[in-house]
Amino acid sequence: MTKHLQDAIGQTPIVELTRLDLPERVRLFAKLEYLNPGGSIKDRIVRYIIDDAEQRGALRAGGTIVENTSGNTGAAIAMLAATRGYRAILTMPDKVSREKQDTLRALGAEIIVCPTAASPGSPDHYVDTARRLHAERPGSFMLNQYDNPLNAEAHFRTTGPEIWRVLKNQIAAFVAAGSTGGTISGTGRYLRSQKSEIRTVLVDPIGSIYHSYFHRGVVDPSMIGTYHVEGIGEDHLAECMDFSALTDVIQVEDGDAFATCRDLARKEGLLCGGSSGANVWGCLQVAKTLRAPATIVTVLPDSGVKYMSKIYNDDWLIANGFGEPTTPGLISRCPS
Ligand code: PMP
Repeated sequence: MTKHLQDAIGQTPIVELTRLDLPERVRLFAKLEYLNPGGSIKDRIVRYIIDDAEQRGALRAGGTIVENTSGNTGAAIAMLAATRGYRAILTMPDKVSREKQDTLRALGAEIIVCPTAASPGSPDHYVDTARRLHAERPGSFMLNQYDNPLNAEAHFRTTGPEIWRVLKNQIAAFVAAGSTGGTISGTGRYLRSQKSEIRTVLVDPIGSIYHSYFHRGVVDPSMIGTYHVEGIGEDHLAECMDFSALTDVIQVEDGDAFATCRDLARKEGLLCGGSSGANVWGCLQVAKTLRAPATIVTVLPDSGVKYMSKIYNDDWLIANGFGEPTTPGLISRCPS
């Protein structure tokens, strides 16, 4: 029996995707992280880090939590801040969807929207803004999700074991996109500690630095660009991204991630965010390289409900150059 909201975090279902175009005898499973109470995989790390901060006395009753977030960490912080009586101040890039911004405000957080195009290190960048606000408020607590080892540890302790318990030795590959790297590093490390041959593949949006850093060992500033898929990829190296836990990094285009989202909705009944589309698209690429029989597993980090005005909006897709999507379902007026 679940007693507190926080007890509903984790233990999410794992479902098999059976209607996508997979090679013979390759099975694909997805962990439905969007079913966490705050709506995303980030509930896990936020609870883990806040619990630790409370135990250490770094966060005291009535205190303030400051963090930079693309929205999902913010929702988890706002949710737990509401239940535990903290003030939440959250900074985010302005590409974050309106739905996500409104969610944080509805949960009582104060939000500060920063230009997506601001370069890291500049005062307007959303990470630098959060650091400044934290420094200006003595006694405030910053999760520091990018560089805090507890981020990946939360996945090592929860996401990894939950996946292993269900799929065990069948697993040939774990595929996930990353921003802080907590998910792929922590889950990947755990799965590989159980079976060292498991492949851990990071899916990186074009415009993010991780692909070039993994393959060439340098952060190539000419590779940094803007892209539409939210919550994944980075313009700076996060300490949580453990490259030694990765066996490969592949690149994904926005259009492929969004087309996969729409496939997931119509073929599998899964209404997911863009990173879920990227993850599943990555799985389909990795599937072609595995020796069957093989099982691939991924996570679906957040819900498509947060992106109705973007990924599931034909006008937005067309306006942003993602072609002529076929309208999912039809809206008719009555009387017709
Ligand atoms: N997908 C979404 C929608 C996210 O918000 C995030 C976190 N920003 C991720 C994936 C990536 O997770 P991680 O930070 O653990 O790499």
